[in-house]
Amino acid sequence: MQKTSIYSFLLLLFTLAATAQAPKKPTASEIYHNLQKLNFVGSALYIAAHPDDENTRLISYLVNDVHANTAYLSITRGDGGQNLIGPELRELLGVIRTQELLEARKTDGGQQFFTRANDFGYSKNPDETFEFWKKEDVLSDVVMTIRKFKPDIIVNRFDHRSPGSTHGHHTASAMLSLEGFDLANDATKFPESANEHGTWKPQRLFFNTSYWFYGSKEKFEKADKSDHVKVEIGNYFPSLGLSNGEIASLSRSMHKSQGFGSTGSRGSETEYLEILKGSKPSDNNLFEGINTNWSRLEGGNEIAAILKPLEENFNFENPSQMLPQLLEAYPLVSNLKDKHWRAIKLAQLKQLILDCGGIFLEAVSEENTINPNDNFNVTVEAVNRGGNSVALKSIKNANGKALWNTTESLPFNNKKNIELTLRSEKNTPPYSSPYWLNEKGTVGMYAAPKKLIGLGETPVFEQLIFELQFGNTVIPFTKDIIYKFNDPVKGEVYRPLEILPKVTASIPEKVLIFADNSSRNVSVIVRAGKDNISGNVSLKYPEGWKIEPSQQNFELSRKGETKTFSFKVTPPNNQSEGYLQTIINAENETFDKELVLIDYDHIPYQSVLLPSEAKVAKIDIQKKGQSIGYINGAGDAIPESLKQIGYSVTTINPSNISEQSLKGFDAIVVGIRAYNVVSDLAFAQPILNKYVENGGTMIVQYNTSHDLVTKDLAPYSLKLSRDRVTDEFSDVKFLSPKHPVMNTPNKITQADFEGWVQERGLYFPDEWAKEFTPILGMKDSGEAQTKGSLLVAKYGKGHYIYTGLSFFRELPAGVPGAFRIFANMLSIGK
Ligand SMILES: [Zn+2]
Repeated sequence: MQKTSIYSFLLLLFTLAATAQAPKKPTASEIYHNLQKLNFVGSALYIAAHPDDENTRLISYLVNDVHANTAYLSITRGDGGQNLIGPELRELLGVIRTQELLEARKTDGGQQFFTRANDFGYSKNPDETFEFWKKEDVLSDVVMTIRKFKPDIIVNRFDHRSPGSTHGHHTASAMLSLEGFDLANDATKFPESANEHGTWKPQRLFFNTSYWFYGSKEKFEKADKSDHVKVEIGNYFPSLGLSNGEIASLSRSMHKSQGFGSTGSRGSETEYLEILKGSKPSDNNLFEGINTNWSRLEGGNEIAAILKPLEENFNFENPSQMLPQLLEAYPLVSNLKDKHWRAIKLAQLKQLILDCGGIFLEAVSEENTINPNDNFNVTVEAVNRGGNSVALKSIKNANGKALWNTTESLPFNNKKNIELTLRSEKNTPPYSSPYWLNEKGTVGMYAAPKKLIGLGETPVFEQLIFELQFGNTVIPFTKDIIYKFNDPVKGEVYRPLEILPKVTASIPEKVLIFADNSSRNVSVIVRAGKDNISGNVSLKYPEGWKIEPSQQNFELSRKGETKTFSFKVTPPNNQSEGYLQTIINAENETFDKELVLIDYDHIPYQSVLLPSEAKVAKIDIQKKGQSIGYINGAGDAIPESLKQIGYSVTTINPSNISEQSLKGFDAIVVGIRAYNVVSDLAFAQPILNKYVENGGTMIVQYNTSHDLVTKDLAPYSLKLSRDRVTDEFSDVKFLSPKHPVMNTPNKITQADFEGWVQERGLYFPDEWAKEFTPILGMKDSGEAQTKGSLLVAKYGKGHYIYTGLSFFRELPAGVPGAFRIFANMLSIGK
């Protein structure tokens, strides 16, 4: 399921920026739209928990209709979601969803912030959420964002008053917003960010409600709305050629990994906002009573006197004729006393000066990646396509050091190219990989350097400052140095210029299970991050394990070249878990990172550095039977895991299930959600039951309780529910400790439930025929005990097992206890 051309098509619909990262090249009417935003002095902050929680209709309305400076604060980066476009999960999915949010904001015009909280998976209520998130740290990040962004109004997506009615992260995001709203104005709370950004008192806090929160449209219609503000958000913007609903859909469609492609709407639409703090506006203007004109700022009236008439008499035919007025406003905006608004308005004004002036500035690196302290060549392009006289005065690096300072005028439409050689400075962090993955965090929190907290992505390291001279006015413009190339199919493709290590390594197999004492050969791939590099590679390993040879030499001549090495790994006699880590010594440095590349058309190309490691587990495990038939469901890695402990696994085509085709298997295992997605199973069930009756073992993994292809998924009656246990540390009670599945061939103990990841299980049955024996009891705190996570029934001469335990997460994560229980299930009756 890799990216399809539909994605690029959608992107082309909205903007010339066909690939992520390409510069925006606004039309005259889009410049007009941006001037309208320049003339609005007010801010709105939207707060929710995940990428894709945000209501893009309201965000687009605030940006494009109200013209407010608007941002979305997503508490997490969405690591816990699913991925519909590729194999990346967990932190790599978080990287994709972060970039999807950034692209969504580029589309609707907002900005994007995050906290350090990690989307660790589902939680039923905010109490559980706060057990994993360090509440004080997340709150500190929320307060810091409010102080830094200084919103006049804050809008919550979720209701802080209804814990348990939605994902715990959702309710928690609203609770944090509510607390942060007051704390931001108290200098004694989180004094560090108060010192840096000052305190801030937003004027209003809203809850962006809808019928969804009331259970039905009918209930919502009847609800008391005296505290609600009703906003028309269905307007059409002629300068953009799009209605608000159309922009919102283009923005929402960036959440491609979540399958949130969305079709635009036109015509009148309403949003409801319930006032939580501050005064309810008397009309439908969310900013009512808040001065959002230039007169809000000391010195603002003079600026308004120049820029307001420019908006009223906008020159659509030749925006460059408005440059003199923009240049007149420039020193006034530069001298604004209000530091916060000065930075925002100066950035907007400078972009308008370039866009109106028809001035194109670009710095392109010859190489796509460089190493720290590396020399690299850059080609600068500067061209003045407007009717004003402009000179290029100097080009400086980001530290202000002049690289070129021969003042030269830029004649009309005459392209100027300048070749420069630069040296990359030593940065912290040293590499341009996502900053929140540089250090190991906890299950619930990312580690991040203080100055980067809240930022969407690692700031671009390599930039150039162009000083342009307009008459007597000199204005500096900062531009990221980029990399681009021509693709015969896609055309001009932009990529970030990245600073990466000289060499990286990886162990392609991420979890290695040893079911007995025999050794295995493990591959290590070494990848050059520069031309001509040599050194040696070795493996760090847990105590008791043996690695041969201890190190191997490598020599690579081309950047990007790889070589594979094999190490013989021997486990200890007893059960043992740990990590193998690759260590490379080269050019008097040590390198321990793996490079993962993420390449989709809708987001910028991503180079992610992760610890180069693989989990190894020696499991004390006995098993019976050998040959497993597997019926795939929605997709899981159970077959690979079973092969690792020595089973032979054959995939069974569900449309060809017959008594004959099932003969010879010691057990049949059904993949996750198979009864939700494989319609053929509705017809195959009698044959599968017959297989069990004749002495076979059948194991069915979790299915969701709705949308089943058949209700008869077992030889006896069984009703699925939404019962789940999300706390992976929760106690497990042995309901039938004498049952064979708990005793043979492996004696299951409490230790087998240690080290589980993300959850215990989901969609447990809550009613079953008396033939079933419930084996395990478990629950989340404050809830009733579930007994349906593992149910075993004898049927004829065989055994039928239904289990909602999350083996699809635990086995690929190398959890020994989960392997031992699975082996017992497969061995039953043998
Ligand atoms: Zn969500």
